[in-house]
Amino acid sequence: MPRDFKSAGTCPKCNAEGLTCRYNHFEKDELCIDSWEHKCADCGYRETTGYRSDDPQELQPEDVSICPYCGRRVAI
Ligand SMILES: [Zn+2]
Ligand SMILES: [Zn+2]
Repeated sequence: MPRDFKSAGTCPKCNAEGLTCRYNHFEKDELCIDSWEHKCADCGYRETTGYRSDDPQELQPEDVSICPYCGRRVAI
């Protein structure tokens, strides 16, 4: 299993234990996008947050390597 894909415990919607936490990183020319996704394979519950390098400074998180939902950190 890749390191950016991890079990995140229990789904807040259906309480199944299939919730996963995924980190993605995209780069296109000058643009970088870091995104986090929590997703339940059981009921389809999904929440995502994305950070774009061309967003204004005040929208940038302190650290994109920390999941805004569960607080886990990935090595970038
Ligand atoms: Zn669910
Ligand atoms: Zn997470």
